[in-house]
Amino acid sequence: MKKFFHRMQDGKSVSFIYFLVLAYTIIALIWWGVLLFRQSEQITRFELQNLSLRVDSLAQPVEHQLELQRIAKEDQMRSFKYIGEGITFLGIILIGALFVYRAVWKYMKLSSQQQNFMMAVTHELKSPIAAAKLNLETIRRHRLDEEKQSRLIDNTIRETNRLDQLCNNILLAAQLETHRYQLFKEPLNYSALLEQGIKELGGRIGTHVVNADILPHIWLEGDRLTLQIILSNLVENAVKYAPRNTSISVRLFIADKHLKLQVADEGPGIPKEEWDRIFLKFYRVGNENTRKAKGSGLGLFLTAKIVEQHGGRIEVKNNTPTGACFEITWPQYSVQTA
Ligand code: ADP
Repeated sequence: MKKFFHRMQDGKSVSFIYFLVLAYTIIALIWWGVLLFRQSEQITRFELQNLSLRVDSLAQPVEHQLELQRIAKEDQMRSFKYIGEGITFLGIILIGALFVYRAVWKYMKLSSQQQNFMMAVTHELKSPIAAAKLNLETIRRHRLDEEKQSRLIDNTIRETNRLDQLCNNILLAAQLETHRYQLFKEPLNYSALLEQGIKELGGRIGTHVVNADILPHIWLEGDRLTLQIILSNLVENAVKYAPRNTSISVRLFIADKHLKLQVADEGPGIPKEEWDRIFLKFYRVGNENTRKAKGSGLGLFLTAKIVEQHGGRIEVKNNTPTGACFEITWPQYSVQTA
């Protein structure tokens, strides 16, 4: 029995049972209609028989005609009633079925995304811990030359940074969702914040070239921590999905009087039909078998949420000749040279 319920939870079985019950209900409704029509025919037949016994049609032709008309009319009225009731019931059943299906489908999708998330997060948490542990044990056990030792230490720092970013994303996503994280907006030098962030990321990323083109002296009202998270999420994604030794460009510029931040890479890009969905919580393109990079599906959800809370807009485009390009448009800014 337990096994049965466990198997029931997979999407295909639930859909199959759902459509089976729906088909049964509709067939039962049609059968009910057929029976009612048969019953109505019987009533009409009995009434006609009864009439032929009661009224002598030759002696009272007018009464006979009137009775016949009444019986035919009642028969017609019954038919209308059954058809009307049948259509109403069918409509109610179909509307109800649609609502139930949508609710169940939503629930199943969320639960499968959460399962994916749990699997991905468990892996994402375990792999940097395992790598850092191995590095530290190697340093303790073996007498390594200084270069090897510093390489291992750098690697450990990179892994712990990855862990730190994942934990920040998970915590912040939960806090933003439940409105427990209040953005602390203050006037800040956005150009300097980006320059500093890119410098730190550049030092950490050994696999890609990060090209920065940041318009100087741009100030805006924003929350320092979350604005840093946006930059690192977009750049880390580019690192994750674009091949090694390709370039990642980070640009801050003004176009049509709007301040824009663009992070573009030379990776595979994102298919157009996924553009809206990648910002959903836990959403990841493809499935567990086709995905190469690990992730939690939280980075872009969080990025879009932070941009929204700052009154901005985020869009994804294609980079030329290949790659993904994320563009954020900020609502207000000022240029302060002094
Ligand atoms: P993840 O933890 O999976 O990276 P994100 O929310 O950051 O979660 O991204 C959602 C999905 O969008 C990813 O699974 C990936 O398929 C796609 N994606 C994000 N950034 C890029 C990029 N720079 N290039 C290609 N695909 C990307």
